[in-house]
Amino acid sequence: MILVLGGAGYIGSHTVKMLCESGEEVVVADSLATGFKQAVHPKAKFYKGDLRDREFLDNIFKNEKIDAVIHFAAYSLVGESVTNPLKYYNNNLCGTEILLESMVNAGVKNIVFSSTAATYGEPERIPIMETDKTEPTNPYGETKLSMEKMFKWTGNANGLKFVSLRYFNACGADESGKIGEAHNPETHLIPLILQVANGKRDHISIFGTDYPTKDGTCIRDYIHVTDLSKAHILAVKYLKDGGKSDIFNLGNGIGFSVREVIEMARKVTGHTIPAVEAPRRAGDPAQLIASSEKAKKILGWKPEHDSLEEIIASAWKWHKNHPDGYK
Ligand code: UDP
Repeated sequence: MILVLGGAGYIGSHTVKMLCESGEEVVVADSLATGFKQAVHPKAKFYKGDLRDREFLDNIFKNEKIDAVIHFAAYSLVGESVTNPLKYYNNNLCGTEILLESMVNAGVKNIVFSSTAATYGEPERIPIMETDKTEPTNPYGETKLSMEKMFKWTGNANGLKFVSLRYFNACGADESGKIGEAHNPETHLIPLILQVANGKRDHISIFGTDYPTKDGTCIRDYIHVTDLSKAHILAVKYLKDGGKSDIFNLGNGIGFSVREVIEMARKVTGHTIPAVEAPRRAGDPAQLIASSEKAKKILGWKPEHDSLEEIIASAWKWHKNHPDGYK
């Protein structure tokens, strides 16, 4: 039985759905601070509560036969982490520390962790490899990197094994169109563009047009949420099959500029999507592209939804029918 922490959030809910549909028994714990109960697959058993509540976690491990944990429960807004770092240290780091105490106490050994390309900071080279230097440029990336280190040292001392998955730009939505990305406030490029197509905003701002890239705008590696979900399932299997603790990048290895994403969204939605050039956003590297060779080789993972058109079309299916998210 798998415990998914943060299973009511964007990537968590997609992974829970995939696990449930593959016949796995799933328990979800989520505080619903940023997640939505409606996003949780009906076959999963749901517990509402916070990671920082040791009694809450101990009780789940006591009641359910958990043999692996997938940990998505963290705050994830880069800008907010810069203005309110202690909120991120408290939730992301203190929450994970309590979780690890509870797991060690319950004798649960396997954890798959939702990490991020933000652990690298400004890249030294493209594509980024797992062995490249990690110097986060914001508290969000810093807390995720510290969480990885907490798993490593707890692993050494207490026999825990972890897989950390460093995602690049998660996007898209489940093919059913029934679950998708819903953040409040929304800060991510694709959902913001689709809010323009939905008539919720009158334009999209392009943050920076003077980057040293082909068209002056930032380049990112957009990876479909369904492909990310699949990687978590493979990582759980890898650990249960005796795999050792490790860190993997997850991306398509293909970069698209902000202008290219907007252009593709115009094609998919048939909407003009007015764009306005704006100053750079603080802390944005010019280019982030993953090398996912290691995940392909060791986990046997392969992105299957890597066309930008398919990614945006799947996101549009969700946003068009849910202009207000889960409300
Ligand atoms: N971006 C933009 N306008 C927006 C939101 C984002 O130009 O309204 C750019 C942002 O500067 C970055 C890219 O789109 O280069 C992806 O940003 P997002 O916040 O989606 O993900 P991040 O790369 O920060 O994880």
